[in-house]
Amino acid sequence: MESTSQCDHVRTQRETMVRRQIAERGIRDERVLDAMRAVPRHEFVPESFRQDAYEDHPLPIGEGQTISQPYIVAAMLEYLALQATDRVLEIGAGSGYVTALLSLLSSEVYSVERHAALAVLAESTLRRLEYRNVKIRVGDGRQGWAEYAPFDAILVSAATLEMPPALFAQLREGGRMMAPIGPPSSQELQLIRKVSGQPDFRILEGCRFVPLVEGTVDSR
Ligand code: SAH
Repeated sequence: MESTSQCDHVRTQRETMVRRQIAERGIRDERVLDAMRAVPRHEFVPESFRQDAYEDHPLPIGEGQTISQPYIVAAMLEYLALQATDRVLEIGAGSGYVTALLSLLSSEVYSVERHAALAVLAESTLRRLEYRNVKIRVGDGRQGWAEYAPFDAILVSAATLEMPPALFAQLREGGRMMAPIGPPSSQELQLIRKVSGQPDFRILEGCRFVPLVEGTVDSR
């Protein structure tokens, strides 16, 4: 259990993170800023990195994966412009941090993670912190989650050379997908809208994500 003063300390760190790393860099969406003020990011990183949880960079979360830098997460969420009624598909739950933010910003979140060990840990963290409108499964996210399609929005947290067609197929008409696209040396965030059944691509900004890899891993 955290004492009251530890709680105050992380809340202050989180406020500072939102102001300096996110609001001052141009993110204006109040719903996104509020969600980032609310989700206890330190609960999603391994014990040994907790003191760095509110720093301006990615952190290791095990299995060779990382929790993304707070700013890039905020930018992706702002571009997605989620409505409280949206049903969202996330690819790459990792620690579950972005899943928690999506839980506050939308009505239902479905998340696919290829590493069973990460999926289990993310699920238990989300349950402990009482994020209830979330389902996680172990699988190859390039196939999406057809059972719950179509989705209003899809957020892909790992980089791919091309937009996975199965994901686009699971987007509703008018829906939007945010994904890092390109090789490791030159990825860019792209916002893809489904307009008359066709993808409409908008290139946003450079980024660097771990790759979207085929298949699943169970190292438990
Ligand atoms: N958003 C996460 C960080 C994601 S890192 C967080 O907040 O912690 C990218 C994640 O995508 C990793 O956990 C990785 O295991 C997962 N991943 C990579 N390829 C995948 C695939 N094909 N299907 C599902 N998950 C995948």
